[in-house]
Amino acid sequence: MNKKAITLIFSIWASLALISVNAITVTRVEPANWWTGMKNTNLQILVYGPEISKASLKIKYPGIKVLNVSKTENPNYLFVYVDIAPGTKPGTVPLEFTNGADRFTYNYPLEARTDKTGAQGFSAADVMYLITPDRFANGDPGNDNLEDVSVNRQNPNARHGGDLEGISRHLDYLKDLGITTIWLNPVQENRMPGGSYHGYSITDYYKIDPRFGTNEEFKAFTKTAHDKGLKIVMDMVLNHCGSSHWWMKDLPAKDWINNNGVYVQTNHATVSVMDVHAAPSERAAFLNGWFVRSMPDLNQTNPHLAVYLIQNTIWWIEYARIDGIRQDTYSYLDYDFLARWNREIYAEYPDFNIVGETWYNKSTSSAWWQKNSRLSNKDSDLKTPMDFSLTFITQSAFDSKTDNGYLNNIFEDIAQDFIYPDPYNVLIFLDNHDMTRFNRKDETDLKRFKQGLAFLLTTRGIPQIFYGTEILMTGVKEEGDGNLRKDFPGGWPDDKTDLFSKSGRTEMQNEAWDYLQKLLQWRKTSPAVTEGKMIHYAPRNGVYVYARVKDGHTVMVMLNSSLADQTVKTDRFSDITGSFTTGRDVITSAAYNISEEVTIPAKGELILELGK
Ligand code: CA
Repeated sequence: MNKKAITLIFSIWASLALISVNAITVTRVEPANWWTGMKNTNLQILVYGPEISKASLKIKYPGIKVLNVSKTENPNYLFVYVDIAPGTKPGTVPLEFTNGADRFTYNYPLEARTDKTGAQGFSAADVMYLITPDRFANGDPGNDNLEDVSVNRQNPNARHGGDLEGISRHLDYLKDLGITTIWLNPVQENRMPGGSYHGYSITDYYKIDPRFGTNEEFKAFTKTAHDKGLKIVMDMVLNHCGSSHWWMKDLPAKDWINNNGVYVQTNHATVSVMDVHAAPSERAAFLNGWFVRSMPDLNQTNPHLAVYLIQNTIWWIEYARIDGIRQDTYSYLDYDFLARWNREIYAEYPDFNIVGETWYNKSTSSAWWQKNSRLSNKDSDLKTPMDFSLTFITQSAFDSKTDNGYLNNIFEDIAQDFIYPDPYNVLIFLDNHDMTRFNRKDETDLKRFKQGLAFLLTTRGIPQIFYGTEILMTGVKEEGDGNLRKDFPGGWPDDKTDLFSKSGRTEMQNEAWDYLQKLLQWRKTSPAVTEGKMIHYAPRNGVYVYARVKDGHTVMVMLNSSLADQTVKTDRFSDITGSFTTGRDVITSAAYNISEEVTIPAKGELILELGK
């Protein structure tokens, strides 16, 4: 080859290389699509690509107006804000980028808002069943070992292979038990070293973790649940992302992550946001510190990030028609952001419900967060806080060896309900994925189990049950979080026992399961318990009596925490009993004459539907 030819080839190669360097490249656009007919007509489109901010953008599409094309100090990002006028037709919206002679068109899908099912919200008429998706059932072993994450069921902190298909196959089991609503620990991508099986280190907010399934499979899962009359609550984590999140390698802005993207530990001083004596430095250290090193703390006061996160939530509701949200580490987020997030969601979906993880020892702090609270000078618009205070009391209230137990503590705690704007709309639970299980270790009798569940499912509030409670699954926090989130036996193809089926369970497990099923199935039919007012009496001789009352329906609950049978005169409870003379036990269907006295067995309970 002569020198001239080599020069020619080189110059062709160089010009091609030049084109590819200068060519406009878009590597990521979020959200991947949007819809016409949303109440909020504004849309932010994040565009990511090498030096994309040097390109100019035009959009010609009837009804769409570009409001702002915003740049940050990172040239690889553009935040495009458009208005989608009412009546705009669905279609493909061309985002036309030009940079000198280079042109690139990204076809953005604008879809019709057609599916009006779902987004139902949840209420005290529901019972929520919390599932750790990695640990419930493995319906698709084919998705177990993907990318750089592999399954190891011997390691309590590794991935175990559970997935959406596994849960889907057990929806009938849950329906049979009497559950109405499923709360899933986060299902978005956690492509983290070590697996991050729990889901709280999100690495892509718009993607279902491929080890659980695809976005399409999640949408189909929600639809299947709805077809069976079940609701789905999605766990959202907007306080922090995972350290392997795609944007951590090239942050859109220095202040995208608190403390300029450098790890500083939060002090977990959750009360500092409401404490009138809090040192300002402690409050700032709480809000701006990271939850742990592997969870960078998102700065929701960055205006682009705030819109990004709100849109992401609305995208999931609209895309998958989920019915509710549980927001993680609620108090760690920026207050004004949370208020705006709630308001924008409820503006789009008025029936929706959101529960916030308001983890406090005292109910005053949880109540501070609830919508319409008089305790705060601003309104966070959170409909449902979590009542951790009651949880901590119930963990010891039903102990089998303690005479008279701690029922008085329950009574006194609930007597503080004046602090809540709406005490009927708080989430109540005996345990969850972060706490020692209600069945701490193998119990020798079921009295504590029955009292605890009877109380949970008849007092005020929205009850939540952790998966495995019905088969007496045990777990102690001191032995590690993985121990609280054991695999449900029978969920894996090679499991030797199947506790999803009656024949696989022990006699004791079946007694617990059957009791819970009776309670749950009955609860669905009782307007008194699901909608009724609560009236209670101070415990005497270890007996706590309360009622739920609605439109002539009255349910009277009597819990005996003492070690002896207790016979109580019923004239003291005339506010409840009125002209009723009989009570039907909702578990055994036995009839009681309540006109004079009732005997409650030692460490037992009666749930009576009153009649004449
Ligand atoms: Ca799997």
